[in-house]
Amino acid sequence: MSTTENADVVVVGGGPGGSTAATLLARRGHRVVLLEKETFPRYQIGESLLPSTVHGIARMLGVSEELERAGFTVKRGGSFRWGTNPVPWNFLFAVAPELSGPTSYAYQVERMKFDDILLRNAARHGVDVRQNSAVTDVLADEERVRGVRYAGPDGVEREIHARFVVDASGNRSRIHQHVKGERVYSEFFRNIALFGYFEGGKRLPAPDSGNILCAAFDEGWIWYIPLSDTLTSVGAVISREHAARLQGDQEQALMGFIDRCAIVKDYLSDATRVTDGVYGELRTRKDYSYTNSTFHRPGMVLVGDAACFIDPVFSTGVHLATYAGLLAARSINTVLDGALPQERVFTEFEGRYRREYRVFYEFLSAFYDMQTTEESYFWKARKVTNLPSTDLEAFVTLVGGVHSGEQALTGLVASSEALAGAVERTGDMQTPSGERMHHLFGTPVVREVMQEMNNIQVRGVQGEQARELPLLEGGLVPSGDGLGWTEPEATR
Ligand code: FAD
Repeated sequence: MSTTENADVVVVGGGPGGSTAATLLARRGHRVVLLEKETFPRYQIGESLLPSTVHGIARMLGVSEELERAGFTVKRGGSFRWGTNPVPWNFLFAVAPELSGPTSYAYQVERMKFDDILLRNAARHGVDVRQNSAVTDVLADEERVRGVRYAGPDGVEREIHARFVVDASGNRSRIHQHVKGERVYSEFFRNIALFGYFEGGKRLPAPDSGNILCAAFDEGWIWYIPLSDTLTSVGAVISREHAARLQGDQEQALMGFIDRCAIVKDYLSDATRVTDGVYGELRTRKDYSYTNSTFHRPGMVLVGDAACFIDPVFSTGVHLATYAGLLAARSINTVLDGALPQERVFTEFEGRYRREYRVFYEFLSAFYDMQTTEESYFWKARKVTNLPSTDLEAFVTLVGGVHSGEQALTGLVASSEALAGAVERTGDMQTPSGERMHHLFGTPVVREVMQEMNNIQVRGVQGEQARELPLLEGGLVPSGDGLGWTEPEATR
């Protein structure tokens, strides 16, 4: 039996990307159905967040206070035992003077709790949330996508016809194939992650005890995320060439990586691995760094991992997913309200989204490239300079030029002092990789990475007062309420 109904928008997937898009569409009064195949709370990896999500997006969603009450670990930044320097150094979120203070932190979250808060918030805003409801097909004709087919908890197949479908179904679903693009995997970030949970691990000294700790070792690096006073998420990211090590006993493999990473070994010396419940399982993930060749087609957009992801080292996944959810909602709201033509708004959606992805990609590539002094294959194979991309070469040249102290570039460095100041020289940074890292954080590309995140935070803080310039040449600007797009002159 098949039944049919109508909606303005169907959102597929109730992760952060889907909940964000759905809530911001419902806030403009549109009829939104969100279909989630699991029953929440459900497990997900991606526990370390960025301030733009916690302050900017969360405020727009109206969920900041609830997040605050949930008691998540406060994250001031990242601590890195990276390169040859044995002492960790810190990157703080207090990057822009106007944003230091109340919004210069993020959270480490148990995604079961975080995603559940966002999904329940969507329902509170009028989204028709249906869990245990898996989308099985996308309805489309030559012209556009027109809805979805899904199986509800009772097993009955139903169709929903909608003006737009937002695919926010994550990394493993195949629904993205309906936008007709190709998923292009990164040659550079071809890594595998093996991760689990520990009780009783040590903490970094205050005030950085909530920081993510990323520590390099010969075959890769380990994340150490304090989820509560006692629970720690620990994951090893290693290159594909070492995949064979994960074929046998995974417990032995993870403990072997930890053994070779002195700081993490020390921090876990009195800890025990969680072996039961949802955190009892050791999990692996691979093939997670990719981008789709297109993020939309008429009637359908891709958001979050359905569209792209890079690498966990700088905790960008939830940021990219929620940012894309915001961009998609603005675009769809604008079309549904008849304010601007579809092509114009989806060009803005894809342009901004790709720009954010690209800048992070370049930034993370350069970040990995800090390892030039390391001798291991993992780090050598990940030298940015092996890549053909001209953008990337330009960026590497820029970093190299800054590093060499070129006169022409010193002005750029000076103008980025606020960002450079975000790196605390807690350790002895007078090592080559420490120095290069300090310069990296002072370059214009890092300013770009932070600028758009800051815009979102500013909008979160200032609400409807915030006025922005176009980010793209000839592009649009957010409408007064932040939920749509408008021509720049319309806001003057
Ligand atoms: P998801 O969170 O995956 O949500 C998608 C939802 O869609 C799921 O609930 C799923 O059940 C549902 N779904 C799937 N198929 C269907 C269907 N057919 N019908 C209906 N529903 C469906 N990011 C960070 O920000 N910080 C980190 O520290 C971090 N660490 C990471 C470590 C690793 C090893 C990896 C691989 C990723 C990490 N990430 C991190 C990335 C992060 O996990 C993702 O980017 C983020 O979860 C994407 O959110 P999303 O909403 O796009 O998708």
